[in-house]
Amino acid sequence: MTNLTLAFSTVFVVALVAMVSTTLWLASRQIRYVAAHHNGVPAQFSGTIPLAAHQRAADYTVERTRLTMIEVITSAVVLVALTLLGGVQALDLAISDWLGRGYLGQIALVASVIAITSIVDLPFDYIRHFVIEEKFGFNRMSKNLFFIDLVKGTVLAVVIGAPLLLLTLWLMDRAGAYWWLWTWMVWVAFQLLAMIIYPTFIAPLFNKFEPLKDEELVARITNLMSRTGFAAKGLFVMDGSRRSAHGNAYFTGFGTTKRIVFFDTLLARLSGSEIEAVLAHELGHFKRRHVLKLMIVMFGISLAMLALLGWLVQTVWFYEGLGVRPSLVDSNSGLALVLFMLVLPVFMFFITPLGSLTSCKNEFEADAFAASQTDPKDLVNALVKLYEDNASTLAPDPIYTAFYYSHPPASQRIDRLMQHAA
Ligand SMILES: [Zn+2]
Repeated sequence: MTNLTLAFSTVFVVALVAMVSTTLWLASRQIRYVAAHHNGVPAQFSGTIPLAAHQRAADYTVERTRLTMIEVITSAVVLVALTLLGGVQALDLAISDWLGRGYLGQIALVASVIAITSIVDLPFDYIRHFVIEEKFGFNRMSKNLFFIDLVKGTVLAVVIGAPLLLLTLWLMDRAGAYWWLWTWMVWVAFQLLAMIIYPTFIAPLFNKFEPLKDEELVARITNLMSRTGFAAKGLFVMDGSRRSAHGNAYFTGFGTTKRIVFFDTLLARLSGSEIEAVLAHELGHFKRRHVLKLMIVMFGISLAMLALLGWLVQTVWFYEGLGVRPSLVDSNSGLALVLFMLVLPVFMFFITPLGSLTSCKNEFEADAFAASQTDPKDLVNALVKLYEDNASTLAPDPIYTAFYYSHPPASQRIDRLMQHAA
């Protein structure tokens, strides 16, 4: 074992321990904070949210946070078993004995590691839906549908993922020193293609989409869109109620395939003017170019990560530091991809607050846009209803919020909206 190998193993262990302990510390803060505010609705909401609803949201938050704590510990144990304790090394030996070290063997290695991590996640997913969501009355999904989704998702991952993986492995071995640049271009092209085909080909595999029929609402939305200079291909209602009682609305696709999708659960709960306000908020994200900026940042990060991988594949300490002996004669591309995929989230965890900060800033901007186009009070009312229905806690821990929350807490958004109203 060289010094570099030992150093990298140490860095990895330190990062992993830091990630797990930070996650647990934040989660326990959140649980304590929510429990401490269990018996009183925050003053701002005392007129709109009943105590029972507030307490239900608190219990729901605590249970979900507890599950995340168990999940993060489990994933860390599996990660150590796969890397430092030799799991990937054993898999690699077994698979290369069986299928060789060509493309087939490498794809089998990547697939088996993805299968292992997915199987570890599966019980948590199941508990989330059929224990927690069920207990709080949010789950609308049958166990049958859960497994059908799982099968469809797996088939889709194989059909799309296998050719993409093969192309990546081929580029890694054949495209020379700048393979990572070519791979990045392929990935960007793939992402753009996925955005085009997702709304029309993929989303309908999981949900039914029907054109929005409510004429009054269509007129209202068409008016908002022409007022704000926005074009979309269509307004659709999605049967979100097949899986969950949570409500939502979103935009999907881009260019000429852009469409607006409302969950049926959202339409059932909000008034016409409130739906218009929620949509104006979503339009605000487009008007302020949040979607485009996010895409550019994502592409930039993936280029940097691929360049990093381009360097790591050539070092020995990257493999050995993670418990694997690279082959001296055959391609190690599959191995490198697997190890990178496993350990990257550990290091990326520490930039989570940066993402949350940017996202919250964007949410305020979208709210401000909505407030300029519709009555801010409508968005406030819609938010209160959505928070109550989704049982989002109204009293989250401030540090937990700053680290993870992609949306500012309800109280802050409502404060700002009321300032716009005044
Ligand atoms: Zn938003």
